[in-house]
Amino acid sequence: MKTLEEALDHLLESVSPVTGSESIGLRAALGRVLANEVVSPLDVPSYDNSQMDGYAGVAVEMNNALEPLVVSQRIAAGHPGVALTPGTVARIFTGAPIPLGANAVVMQEQVQLHDDGRIQLLAPVAPGQNIRPRAGDLAAGQRLLKAGHRLQAADLGLAASVGIAELEVIRRLKVSVFSSGDELRQPGDSLGPGQIYDSNRPMIVGLVQSLGCEVFDMGCLPDQFDRTRDRLHEASERSDLVLTCGGVSVGEEDHIKAAISALGRLDLWKIAIKPGKPFAAGQIGRAVFMGMPGNPVAAWVTFMLLVRPAILKMMGGQSPALITKAVPSGFDWPKPDARQEYLRGWIDAQGCAQIHDRQNSGVLSSVTQSEGLIEIPASTPVRVGQTVCFIPYTSFY
Ligand code: AMP
Ligand code: MG
Repeated sequence: MKTLEEALDHLLESVSPVTGSESIGLRAALGRVLANEVVSPLDVPSYDNSQMDGYAGVAVEMNNALEPLVVSQRIAAGHPGVALTPGTVARIFTGAPIPLGANAVVMQEQVQLHDDGRIQLLAPVAPGQNIRPRAGDLAAGQRLLKAGHRLQAADLGLAASVGIAELEVIRRLKVSVFSSGDELRQPGDSLGPGQIYDSNRPMIVGLVQSLGCEVFDMGCLPDQFDRTRDRLHEASERSDLVLTCGGVSVGEEDHIKAAISALGRLDLWKIAIKPGKPFAAGQIGRAVFMGMPGNPVAAWVTFMLLVRPAILKMMGGQSPALITKAVPSGFDWPKPDARQEYLRGWIDAQGCAQIHDRQNSGVLSSVTQSEGLIEIPASTPVRVGQTVCFIPYTSFY
């Protein structure tokens, strides 16, 4: 058996980033991976502007005024004013350009407005006060985003803030997804004796989609060698990655292994994790192959811990380290497995890890009713209060 780390290292070594990029509009770029670094073409902000609604003037003049000050102009955001008349102030609003000659803004709450329209300061003002200086956020030429970065919504906002309308991104990874098994029926169909609904395929399609890949939902493979081989071959010709679930265990109805061996190269690993022991990896022509176990929770866990990091690498992105949290256990786990376990659970209001009461690898509700995985090292009993490692599901998207 391989440890999870060995399997992951091996898997990551065996895959490489796809090549080719395209230029796309900002609105289509969410979740895509940057092909090049992004450099700011301009200063942000590109002019000194007011951080407050108030009055712009010369600090020393405003502090030393013996008489109330005349308001000589009004400057709203988007409507630049003129150079400041000496000895006066300008009415100014948040985001509006500071007029030439002014060096401070006093907020309107610190001013008394007289009936004749003149103002009196109620507090001293310092030079530079309430002014957002040109380039205070970013300077032209500064790197905004790194190549290989997976674009988040705020990144799109940042690119927009410097006027960039299109980004060069790595082409989308094409992923084919199959389920397998004669017992599987599709939602909407009726169930006969001995049949169950295919829950893994919508789940895996969704997980792959949420990573920003182009997904081909290839349907369900029958437990039959020829058809399995032909369908996998067909998928390999149109995709970078072929994913299956089920059919990689030791039963004689598990035909995926034989089909992959016939088409290309198969590595079948027993991984020392629970759930998720059987996992297959390999190659069909130019496509990478990964076969997850059939039990839904095992498919979920192996997707998160193995398939996801490999997909991120193939997408051309950096594979960020998993976010983990060391927390005190709120439960006893007196009879640990010889394999490293991934229990489904959450962190309670006291900050302690709690586990779902059904931990069978077929119970998908243990995933939907939990917020993360709790890692229990192999053969290690856990007592209440002992530290355990929690991996929130949010770190997987
Ligand atoms: P297998 O590895 O094909 O023997 O599958 C292991 C277990 O997972 C069996 O109980 C299967 O019925 C179940 N299973 C396999 N694929 C799916 C699927 N797509 N949806 C739900 N259960 C599945
Ligand atoms: Mg099966």
